Amino acid sequence: MSARSFTLQARDGTARAGTLHTAHGEVQTPVFMPVGTAGTVKAMTADAVRSTGARMILGNTYHLMLRPGAERVGRLGGLHRLMDWDGPILTDSGGFQVMSLAGLRKMDADGVTFQSHIDGSKHRLTPERSIEIQHLLDADVTMCFDECTPFPATHEDAAKSMRLSMKWAARSREAFRPRDGYGLFGIQQGSTFEDLRAESAKALTEIGFEGYAIGGLAVGEGQAEMFRTLDFSLPMLPQDKPRYLMGVGTPSDIIGAVARGVDMFDCVIPTRSGRTGRAYTSRGVLNMRNARHADDASTLDPECDCPACTRHSRAYVQHLIRAEEMLGPMLLTWHNIRYYQTLTARLRTAILEGRFEAEAAAIMAKWENTPPPEPPSPEETTS
Ligand SMILES: [Zn+2]
Repeated sequence: MSARSFTLQARDGTARAGTLHTAHGEVQTPVFMPVGTAGTVKAMTADAVRSTGARMILGNTYHLMLRPGAERVGRLGGLHRLMDWDGPILTDSGGFQVMSLAGLRKMDADGVTFQSHIDGSKHRLTPERSIEIQHLLDADVTMCFDECTPFPATHEDAAKSMRLSMKWAARSREAFRPRDGYGLFGIQQGSTFEDLRAESAKALTEIGFEGYAIGGLAVGEGQAEMFRTLDFSLPMLPQDKPRYLMGVGTPSDIIGAVARGVDMFDCVIPTRSGRTGRAYTSRGVLNMRNARHADDASTLDPECDCPACTRHSRAYVQHLIRAEEMLGPMLLTWHNIRYYQTLTARLRTAILEGRFEAEAAAIMAKWENTPPPEPPSPEETTS
């Protein structure tokens, strides 16, 4: 990515609308990236993902290095070609998943040695190896290898962890091979401590990256604490570069984070919820296993134009889920991704037209009083 890797088009309060320029096309922000863990957005063909309006997806270094293997993906022409996705791909560094392997990993100042959850084989990730793997995968956006500080953490532990990540960020920058349309993002850490977030932001901006992620959030701190941390963390990051909030979140998390100036999101919620029978709709979250849908000939979401909503009834979707037919998770995943794309597109248009606050309020006012689903645990965020 060159200096023109991101164009900021409009601001409305602290909310932003922009365009990310990559080797595989442009992406309009705010953007939600569906998670394609192991070379597939689960239950979706690449064409189906494209038809939801999604322009950029995420791939997982940890899963792909173990199976089918980074060198093999490289030989087969990279991840875009392997999975028939011609849009941009962002890959994580593998750090988050490796750190989640409690008992199966050993960390040192240089990197992490771990055992595969598939066959117990031994592997090692360092900043250099992580960057090399992401290069082999041909990621448009490569993420620095870091340690996601667990929550809660004492100030001392969070400082130690953040400083290690900053050393690894410098090594990641060294290892990254610059190419036109490709970029490396730094990851701010420091848990929920303002002084540590400031120290991390300073270290990262001195190194210099094409974008900046806010890491170490959505790890159990809750929405209020996440928003409080974003309130002081985002102004510390460069205004002219994209900001990416990793692993977030529910629709209300996304609206709150866009309001504060986040441009990019990824989360397993729409895909995983789709596989467990939950639908995110303009009226709130529906549990499609619920018996009340059994005779309901109405559509899942009258405001949605996905195949689940335009061609089927709630009764049919409920039948598929209850009968454990494959099409049930497929339709709900399709719907949920489409819902997330519609949501971020509406927020973008509102920002461009200077009416973000009213649009956000209108979207949230329609949600019924449905209890929000539990946030994913770190182990669950891998799929
Ligand atoms: Zn739909």
